Amino acid sequence: MAQIDLVNLRKEYGAVVAVNDINVVIEDGEFVVFVGPSGCGKTTTLRMIAGFEDPTSGEVRIDGQVVNDLEPRDRGLGMVFQSHALFPHKTVAQNIEFGLRMKNVPLAERAERVRDVAALVRVTHLLGKMPAQLSGGESQRVALARTLVTNPAIFLLDEPLSSLDAKLRRELRAECDRIHQVLKKTFIYVTHDQEEAMTLADRIVVMRGGNIEQIGLPMEIYANPVNSFVADFFGSPSMNLVPGEVVFEGGRPCFRSRGLSAALHDRFKGISAGSVTLGIRPENVSSEPAANGRSGDAVLPVRLVEPLGKDTLLYF
Ligand code: ATP
Repeated sequence: MAQIDLVNLRKEYGAVVAVNDINVVIEDGEFVVFVGPSGCGKTTTLRMIAGFEDPTSGEVRIDGQVVNDLEPRDRGLGMVFQSHALFPHKTVAQNIEFGLRMKNVPLAERAERVRDVAALVRVTHLLGKMPAQLSGGESQRVALARTLVTNPAIFLLDEPLSSLDAKLRRELRAECDRIHQVLKKTFIYVTHDQEEAMTLADRIVVMRGGNIEQIGLPMEIYANPVNSFVADFFGSPSMNLVPGEVVFEGGRPCFRSRGLSAALHDRFKGISAGSVTLGIRPENVSSEPAANGRSGDAVLPVRLVEPLGKDTLLYF
């Protein structure tokens, strides 16, 4: 079991409130991603869970036990960081084995566990190499193996893929997902990348300015963001946010702004007149007449066409 409760967790650095009384329950075996822009407090949260930072107030609980006063090594956690910092004069096998050696695990068991975990993260062919002979992606796999081999109940990953190029990041993202499915352990993953959060998470915690803006399933957050910050953060290209106002025409709510007016969908029946921001996901804009034969709601000149191969982006 490895359930984590963050209870009114707060961290101040002098006048800076890095984390502002947050409350989250992370279930055993769950893959939770903390995501948000730089400086929003996600690393500080992870470091308080790990025991590298003392909370100013509040509690970190693991399986119901308050662990605020426990040393990092006594919390049953494994951490993977952005910078993988392998020992340069040890082979890959010796690097992976290091944590087990520190715990005086017998030689035969060490060899077996290194073999198993190397197979899991697909670095068996690299075991005899030195870190300087590895690519960035290979180094990060070894760093992952080094943590996995110690068999922690909880994995904490702080931007583990951000130093890799886009293709490798996608590849290793899929590996993280696969490893989680094999191990079924609790994973907490910190990233500023909304795509990583959407693809990896069972649940996403969206942070801004030390606060939690929204917690939810990826598609729940995408479809029903609680505010325009969350709406804008998820999706690429991001949601179009158009300031305007709601007016009533023939008893029906309509959106009006410079250059765009549209009758609102029935789900907005209860809306009041006044200033609003209309959010439109790019994929929900159609240049075709609606299925009911009506012409579109807006006539907008296209300013720029960007063909991307599979998709073409139109700016207007
Ligand atoms: P990033 O993605 O850039 O790492 P983050 O969301 O992980 O950002 P944190 O590193 O948790 O953000 O920082 C949250 C806030 O706390 C920031 O304003 C940061 O400047 C501040 N902060 C973090 N660590 C310290 C420290 N040791 N001393 C003073 N302020 C700090």
